[in-house]
Amino acid sequence: MEKQRNIQLFKAKYDIEACLKEIRECLEIGWTGIGFKTVEFENKWKEYTGYSNAFFTNSATAGLYLSLDILKEENGWDEHCEVITTPITFVSTNHAILKAGLCPVFADVDDTLCLNPDEVVKKITPATKAVMYVGMGGNAGHIDKIINICRDHNLKLILDAAHMSGTRWNQKIVGREADVIINSFQAVKNLPTGDSGMLCFQNDEYDKIARKKAWLGINKDTYLRSSDGGNYKWKYDVEYVGDKYHGNSIMASLAIAQLKHLDDDNEYRRKLASWYEEQLVRLVKEGGIRLIHIPNECISSRHLFQIVVDKRDELVDELNENGIYPGVHYVDNTEYKMYSYAKGTCPVAHYYSEHLVSLPMHLDLNRDDVEYICEIIRGAIV
Ligand SMILES: *Cc1c(COP(=O)(O)O)cnc(C)c1O
Repeated sequence: MEKQRNIQLFKAKYDIEACLKEIRECLEIGWTGIGFKTVEFENKWKEYTGYSNAFFTNSATAGLYLSLDILKEENGWDEHCEVITTPITFVSTNHAILKAGLCPVFADVDDTLCLNPDEVVKKITPATKAVMYVGMGGNAGHIDKIINICRDHNLKLILDAAHMSGTRWNQKIVGREADVIINSFQAVKNLPTGDSGMLCFQNDEYDKIARKKAWLGINKDTYLRSSDGGNYKWKYDVEYVGDKYHGNSIMASLAIAQLKHLDDDNEYRRKLASWYEEQLVRLVKEGGIRLIHIPNECISSRHLFQIVVDKRDELVDELNENGIYPGVHYVDNTEYKMYSYAKGTCPVAHYYSEHLVSLPMHLDLNRDDVEYICEIIRGAIV
């Protein structure tokens, strides 16, 4: 009998020697904090993406919190102001809106699993100030239409690009038109560190504010202070009641080493996706499963490979019994108590929430694994 397999949803792959080399430099000079590698990675990220600013944070969640806090304060928004957002996301997206004291207004998704532009337009009121857009699984969805809607209605566009590191739109890194872009480099994302993220404002002034707010509101960072010979360490001003949200040089070391592999890694993810599609083509034709639509302009980072099935929980059980451990991205956020005021307002999202399965997607998988997974799926869906 064949040995029971153990195929997890995610598994990070590191260029171990390159990571250790970067970290060694930090340990040798005796500096693991903000500055040094964090600045180097910020510069590399700007070069890679073409974004005008990049601030390295200790998570994407921290970046999301900072972005809304700063947009609110600098634009004079109050607690009645609304941000249109999606129910199909990781909760930190929507928590960021609530934490900033703003109102999340949920709009429905389309067959890309991203916000449906027509539904967004329907939700615009005089109180709407921004759209929070999540590129699900690396898919940009109809971001071109969202950009136009935001321009026409004078709304800020916040791009939760936690899944989108490396995603391109018409050959260019996605999101340059957004007011702010937030990437995640959390342990299972496409550019894994341990925990870290990037906050990229278009507005240079907001970038400067973020750097202060991310370190308790202090207006001078430790690295700058230690480079003036270590004198006058206490001589700083405190401009805000800030938080502790900045990243550190150990995480940036991992990010620097991993960034070199991001495009190749994503290319391999797309290859895995194409093997899945090839293996599942008959089931798709017969209607047993549906795939997620990715517009032609988008080259997805393929953080996820998701399918839609009628009997999701049965399929998951069957996969588990065969040593395959898929996931679900995500449960409709209006199912959670703090967002339950919007329950029932996004039927398409709700349908997906009950029928989506994320199949294993990571760099340790090979064609044989994909064939095995699809064989189990074909056996389960008849
Ligand atoms: C992972 C994730 C986040 C949060 O990222 P962290 O770096 O873990 O804080 C935010 N939004 C989405 C869509 C995510 O998947």
